Amino acid sequence: MKLCHFGEPGEERAGVVTDAGRLDVGRFIERFDEEFWAGDVVRRLGQWLGHHGQQCPLVPSGTRVGAAISRPSKIVCVGRNYHEHAAEMGAEPPKEPLLFMKATSAMVGPNDDLVLPKGSQKTDWEVELGVVIGRRARYVEREHAMEHVAGFVLINDVSERDFQKERGGQWVKGKSADTFAPVGPYVCTPDELDPADLRLWLELNGELMQDDRTSSMIFDVATLVSYTSEFMTLLPGDLISTGTPSGVGAGRTPPRYLRPGDIVACGIEGLGASRRRVVARRS
Ligand code: ZN
Repeated sequence: MKLCHFGEPGEERAGVVTDAGRLDVGRFIERFDEEFWAGDVVRRLGQWLGHHGQQCPLVPSGTRVGAAISRPSKIVCVGRNYHEHAAEMGAEPPKEPLLFMKATSAMVGPNDDLVLPKGSQKTDWEVELGVVIGRRARYVEREHAMEHVAGFVLINDVSERDFQKERGGQWVKGKSADTFAPVGPYVCTPDELDPADLRLWLELNGELMQDDRTSSMIFDVATLVSYTSEFMTLLPGDLISTGTPSGVGAGRTPPRYLRPGDIVACGIEGLGASRRRVVARRS
């Protein structure tokens, strides 16, 4: 199943993506939030759709696409999880997964404007496979890790490199500005998608910048879920962003960063695509 949110910011409602378009499933569930993911509701939603799908209204095609999940307790990101990306950043491949956090307030719809923060000179793009947690996970063995995964989603881990690396402290400063986490267009459940070998790509103004496959990841999804659960409790609805392939702006010669008017498009096989306009912050 493919789960989405639609509607204006703050008023998003739950939908299911079908071949015919997005179905409004508001009569069954309001939002895809922590309570939803925790409750085996995906299965019940499937059953409900079998009986009531015909009566669900179609969402008008121009309706805004919201972030595909409600704001989670945390967004855990993985750094340098592709060999070529580690190399382009001048770093060795990590011996253990490199984890950092991104503020959940950075989440927006996949096609919403990307707002450059005040003083931004080095805002950069990173297309990534996101993993949505379904069952609470703490000290989960790798062989059981996928039992805790509810689905997969397209994320762009937008990053301000100056804030990330040249302002001291942790990377979180460069990862957390408003609009720096577009999530969606939809979450695809694991029964419909194997995350092991999916193409992921990103274009800037129509020019292909990133193009790789998830099979190039150093640490796979099961390893990342298991590993992260050693250090914290993963709650239903939490997101793990699994790292970006090579081709980011900071890795180019000369480096290239986002400017107002740029168009960033990205996608993952089976998880749809997103397209965003870059704008300057107004105040
Ligand atoms: Zn990243």
